[in-house]
Amino acid sequence: MDDIIIVGAGIGGLTLGLALHQAGIPCCIYESVPDIKAIGVGINLLPHATKEFAALGLEDELSRVAIETRDATFFNRFGQLIYQEPLGRAAGYDHPQFSIHRGDLQMVLLEAFRARVGADRLITNRHCAGVTQDATSVTVTFSDGVGGANRVAVRGRAAIACDGINSAIRKQFFPDEGEPRYSGVNMWRGVTRWKPMLSGASMVRAGWLSHVKMVIYPIRAAGSDGLQLINWVAEIETPNYRKRDWNRAGTLDDFIGAFADWHFDWLDVPAFIRAADSVLEFPMVDQDPLPRWSFGRVTLLGDAAHPMVPRGSNGAGQAILDARVLTAALVGHPDPAAAFAVYEKQRLEATTRIVLTNRSNPPDAILREVFQRTHDQPFAAIDDVISRDELVALSEGYKRIAGYSKDALRQS
Ligand SMILES: Cc1cc2nc3c(=O)[nH]c(=O)nc-3n(C[C@H](O)[C@H](O)[C@H](O)COP(=O)(O)OP(=O)(O)OC[C@H]3O[C@@H](n4cnc5c(N)ncnc54)[C@H](O)[C@@H]3O)c2cc1C
Repeated sequence: MDDIIIVGAGIGGLTLGLALHQAGIPCCIYESVPDIKAIGVGINLLPHATKEFAALGLEDELSRVAIETRDATFFNRFGQLIYQEPLGRAAGYDHPQFSIHRGDLQMVLLEAFRARVGADRLITNRHCAGVTQDATSVTVTFSDGVGGANRVAVRGRAAIACDGINSAIRKQFFPDEGEPRYSGVNMWRGVTRWKPMLSGASMVRAGWLSHVKMVIYPIRAAGSDGLQLINWVAEIETPNYRKRDWNRAGTLDDFIGAFADWHFDWLDVPAFIRAADSVLEFPMVDQDPLPRWSFGRVTLLGDAAHPMVPRGSNGAGQAILDARVLTAALVGHPDPAAAFAVYEKQRLEATTRIVLTNRSNPPDAILREVFQRTHDQPFAAIDDVISRDELVALSEGYKRIAGYSKDALRQS
């Protein structure tokens, strides 16, 4: 009854559980799936997120399974270099940028939670169906798995919805919201075992969405065969899409043709894609920002609160920042409703700006700018197209909005 109930053991829910425990606040996590499996492909953790993991004592664990990303490198679809800048520690940050398999990240968090908080504090096969509250407590109802017939009601001091983009609790408070909003861009994603390319720790963005844009970065160090596990995403403006399902298999023939000419000295892209372990297909979706997240003793966190299109490497990071701010608010305010109001004040406007900027001006705006100015033709020299100062300004502008400019991080 004294517990904070966390709904969902994804990246946000597990980070929140660890942060609350570190602050001495009892909590229990309830997760829909019966077994938490290492699902997903690549995810990036920018220095504002890794700073929080360092505070939770997890930086060493993560560095063992992640790649410390060193540079962002942008090319046009003809393989011409547009812009390169250092990232993470290589750029002078106090904390690294990690590129990591989502499953590896979730497993590090899960093991830490079980070891520190207790395995009995994470209950699986509990699919949240709704929440009610009175003046002193909340009651969250769970079925045994999605569509399960058996129901259990759990009482706690407060409830935090960390149940992702299809959040049941968000739907309860905003029943008319409708399905996630399609951006017009479909994504095919996969991982390929391949020899290191460029710096061996590069985050590559190439091409542009109207033809095809590619994002490539390694997520696991090379094994004895010298091959890294390399994450890739192909993004194409496509009118039709199917509902997001993290496990939906994609078909190579639906998109590989767009890469027919992508044979570069640093990578043969069609061969690289064909060598993938498997291909997944997701539509790029988000939701319009909400006017509020908190309703008395209940609030939303992570994708449940502010789903965003994955164009700024910020979805996981913002969930992690939410967890830190929410924990600090609960430490400062014994009344959860007061704490949630403080949390919402600090985080709602900040994440709204990111959701909207990810739609209009994420880091790949650099590619759009060059695509438009060159009319999708090769250039003789990049300086004739766009100055270094303009490129730096585009990149730095996003960092400021997303909260990871070096100055902002040192002050926080
Ligand atoms: C299976 C899966 C694979 C993903 N793969 C990628 C990827 O490859 N790359 C990427 O960038 N992002 C991926 N994401 C999304 C990414 O994890 C989030 O965008 C981000 O990390 C924010 O995390 P979150 O905790 O808010 O949401 P999530 O990480 O999505 O976690 C939500 C959790 O809540 C659980 N849940 C959902 N509904 C209920 C319910 N009604 N009751 C109880 N529990 C519930 C889910 O099973 C999940 O464990 C994936 C998410 C999932 C669930």
